[in-house]
Amino acid sequence: MSDEQPQAQADPTSAPVQAQAPAPPPEQSAPVQQQPTQQSPPSNAVWGDAPTPMMCTNCNTQQTSVPTKNIGATSWIVAVVVAAILFFVVCWPCVPCAFLVLLIDPLKDTKHVCPNCNHVNGVKKMI
Ligand SMILES: [Zn+2]
Repeated sequence: MSDEQPQAQADPTSAPVQAQAPAPPPEQSAPVQQQPTQQSPPSNAVWGDAPTPMMCTNCNTQQTSVPTKNIGATSWIVAVVVAAILFFVVCWPCVPCAFLVLLIDPLKDTKHVCPNCNHVNGVKKMI
């Protein structure tokens, strides 16, 4: 007589033991944290007037920026100064001519636009 018998026979009215082991779902939920590719863009800091290679911050693709000219603060300041000079020094009917400087491209700001998504990645301001 062995005393190592389990207690399985102690309760004959117990339900049959479930033979199916509960299969645990395969643990595939490994914490794969997508590291945001926060590489510093090559030359986003230096904007000029020319198309510039850049990493677009909106669509995250390597693009060459499309520079577009926009009337910025510099244009307005120069226009007002020229208008004041015309008003006080030259002749006041010439004052509207001062705002022709708004059309001068070198005084304008340069926006660098992504050709892929039209996102403005940088602005080169004159001042
Ligand atoms: Zn883009």
